Amino acid sequence: MNPHETHDGRFREPAKKALGQHFLHERGVVDRIILAVDPKPGDRIVEIGPGQGAMTFPLLERHGHLTAIEFDRDLLAPLAVRAREHGELELIHADVLDVDFTALAGGTPLRLVGNLPYNLSSPILFHALDHAAAVRDMHFMLQKEVVDRMAAAPGSKVYGRLSVMLQAWCRVTALFDVGPGAFRPPPKVDSAVVRLVPRDPAEVGIDDPARFAAIVRAAFGQRRKTLRNALQALCSGEEIAAAGVDPSLRAEQLSVPDFVRLANALPAA
Ligand code: SAM
Repeated sequence: MNPHETHDGRFREPAKKALGQHFLHERGVVDRIILAVDPKPGDRIVEIGPGQGAMTFPLLERHGHLTAIEFDRDLLAPLAVRAREHGELELIHADVLDVDFTALAGGTPLRLVGNLPYNLSSPILFHALDHAAAVRDMHFMLQKEVVDRMAAAPGSKVYGRLSVMLQAWCRVTALFDVGPGAFRPPPKVDSAVVRLVPRDPAEVGIDDPARFAAIVRAAFGQRRKTLRNALQALCSGEEIAAAGVDPSLRAEQLSVPDFVRLANALPAA
């Protein structure tokens, strides 16, 4: 047996930096997240990284049942013990990046929630997008700087690849900011809660997701260059113009629909 495991529901381990552990301790923040999620009977809610249960137990109280995915083995036993007072918790011991959300959903799209480990935010977001049809929505606490980039509009300094990739596939809404003092230990950065709702693929209208991703990556890879120069390995200035996009613009000036139109008009790589 793991010598750190406890069976009395107490968490004895110090926070682990490598796992991005910053535990929420402000109940007001937890309540605001639950208000934003607004669980309804029948919802299939999955929490990523329950930690010491700051959101898990209030969510269980509210909703009655919950699935949670936690990588840190030392947290599992105390979570399971404490959860019994609050509701029905299905605990999955796994790296969330190895979890097949489509299989987990089993036909009822998931509502993902989590105060994410910040070092893994982007991989977790893209992993969820790989299973977009199995995800109804997501409410995540992330580094504020990342939420600002996700929600940025064209022309903004922080509008970039993350903004276009996420806004193409999801409706992105930055909800509210949270200061470092709400966590133990406090992170060095500000945090924010964001809502992402995957769009219907018909509404997205991207013909070839791989080509779309390649165009966006190349365009922002050299964001100071014009599209004609930044995309020269993929297409010509004439082809960009034929798609109805001005090749003398820079990536940061293009809207998400512009990128979709451009990617759809270009020949497959
Ligand atoms: N939800 C808790 C809270 O708000 O207090 C904990 C949040 S803490 C920022 C992130 C949590 O994600 C930790 O419990 C950590 O162990 C867990 N975690 C880190 N990497 C993970 C991974 N790859 N898969 C699943 N959980 C992970």
